Amino acid sequence: MFDKRSKWQQKAMHAMAGRYGLTDTLNKHLLVAGVVLMLVNIVFASRVLSLLSTILIAYAAFRFLSKNRYKRVRENQIYYAWHMKRQRFWQFQQKRWRERKSYKYFSCSNCHQKLRVPRHKGRIKITCPKCRTQITKKT
Ligand SMILES: [Zn+2]
Repeated sequence: MFDKRSKWQQKAMHAMAGRYGLTDTLNKHLLVAGVVLMLVNIVFASRVLSLLSTILIAYAAFRFLSKNRYKRVRENQIYYAWHMKRQRFWQFQQKRWRERKSYKYFSCSNCHQKLRVPRHKGRIKITCPKCRTQITKKT
């Protein structure tokens, strides 16, 4: 069958054969951070920023062209888990801030489970739903 793809496309596909070639979360974030640093550097013109942004972008390019797919997937998994953990932490802080007038948060003295209780109820006994430990707190 006649191949409709252009010569350049075929050449590009041949060059990318067996390479990682994926824009995963880590690569997207490396590129965004690299470009942001580059833009910030327009204002500050610092060698450190320039070097840092070059390293980030070069690392993203290296990952994109890498032939060790297994290692790149692993890197991304580790990064993604770390990123999600941070994300959840900030989402919790936002929720806590939004609800600051109606709820108070405590953590269980036994299992560190986060406990949300309504405010302005005086001294109350709180039972941890996870381990049943009771703590007395002022709301
Ligand atoms: Zn508990």
